[in-house]
Amino acid sequence: MNTEATPTRKIIPILPAEVQADEELISLYAAHEKIYPRSVSGFFSQWRWGVVFLTQLVFYGMPWIEWGQRQAILFDLGSRRFYIFGLVLYPQDFIYLTGMLVIAALSLFLFTAVAGRLWCGYACPQTVYTEIFLWIEKRMEGDRSARMRRDAQGLSVDKVWRKTAKHALWLIVALWTGFTFVGYFTPIKELGVEFLQMNMGSWEVFWTLFYGFATYGNAGFMREQVCKHMCPYARFQSAMFDKDTLIVTYDAERGDPRGARSRKADPTALNLGACIDCSLCVQVCPTGIDIRKGLQYECIGCGACADVCDTVMDKMGYARGLVKYTTENAMKNKWTQAQTWRHIFRPRILIYTAILGTIVVAMVVSLAVRTPYKVNVLRDRGVMARIVGGGKIENVYQLQVMNATEATQHYRITVTGLPGLAVTTEDTLMVESTQQRRVAEAAAPGTHPIEFRIESLDTPGNLVEKSVFMIPK
Ligand code: SF4
Ligand code: SF4
Repeated sequence: MNTEATPTRKIIPILPAEVQADEELISLYAAHEKIYPRSVSGFFSQWRWGVVFLTQLVFYGMPWIEWGQRQAILFDLGSRRFYIFGLVLYPQDFIYLTGMLVIAALSLFLFTAVAGRLWCGYACPQTVYTEIFLWIEKRMEGDRSARMRRDAQGLSVDKVWRKTAKHALWLIVALWTGFTFVGYFTPIKELGVEFLQMNMGSWEVFWTLFYGFATYGNAGFMREQVCKHMCPYARFQSAMFDKDTLIVTYDAERGDPRGARSRKADPTALNLGACIDCSLCVQVCPTGIDIRKGLQYECIGCGACADVCDTVMDKMGYARGLVKYTTENAMKNKWTQAQTWRHIFRPRILIYTAILGTIVVAMVVSLAVRTPYKVNVLRDRGVMARIVGGGKIENVYQLQVMNATEATQHYRITVTGLPGLAVTTEDTLMVESTQQRRVAEAAAPGTHPIEFRIESLDTPGNLVEKSVFMIPK
């Protein structure tokens, strides 16, 4: 029996020309639509403005506060010292900076777990400056509908002067912000004098302009784009949410079906929910989303939609809270406010609070008992052990004593570890700022561990630094 091998054939599908011609090119990039947030007033809006005032009072005001002969808060990078009121921190105090960052991160975790993006909605500089810039915009160009109308119109004298005035005010705020920022690193009064004399250093000019234009660009133009596309926090926030986290939520059960109706109409008779579909919650949203579609990553939790919806509910004579801060579990189980709060303080929150509290207390205690000077002991490797007059053996060390207070301090140096060991230079020294002193010493051939003890004579403090003493064979 003969068998024939089955020939294999390649099949290449070809789309008929007429089908190819029908193909439509779909762009994956949507053109950016400008958002014109409507101004809103209400409980959450008042809170946000309260935080705006507080944070900006601190930010703009703090560099002008004096502490003794210097600026109260100054990060002097040139001399590598950070002054925070009475505290002087050196690079060796890096641990405190780490502690502060850990506290900031834990606080963020805690607040996010309790009430979602509280930081984003109320205290983030992007939100705060956007709020200030929007306020200026409203003063110069009117509220949402006036701004939209004017932008759609052609050039006119009215449009040009209003826009020019708005940008001029934005630039003043932005450059003042940049100047203030630099004032945390260079004494702000000197900076002000240099500015008036047109004599600012090149780095100071650069950072003032850089920070100023970043503020102008981010708060004036980028706005919600920063939150949606640039800020990493928006990406990982959902990892910190759970079903007991307070988030801004639309009560679909109560609000749907949506529909317009007169104030006097009975929604039940019309088979309508409480939402009158006025779209005000979308118009006030700084990121332009519709909260009625559920939780979206663009939502910064500002509560503007809750505020405006409450005013709508008031006008309609309905109960407030169609859009409100609540938790997923509270919505599902129809919990009362008291039940909701009981569940918010869940074990996770208590653990975060306990850890945060412990770190804060540890930081405060550590700062309170901190020795107000630093010592580095370095064996001088350029000079080996040598025999000097009287048969004594001398080792040379460099002691760097850094005075972390703002007054002249006196210190006594002693050394232990070998019989007859002594400091041959003077054993007390005065330090105004970072200084180095050489001390020398003497025993059996080899390497001997020794300890330098540096005792402050003016403030409480006693530091011990270890080193070795070499004796030649
Ligand atoms: S503001 Fe309230 S009533 Fe108006 S559309 Fe939004 S959810 Fe509905
Ligand atoms: S949906 Fe509401 S809470 Fe979220 S960003 Fe918009 S206005 Fe703010």
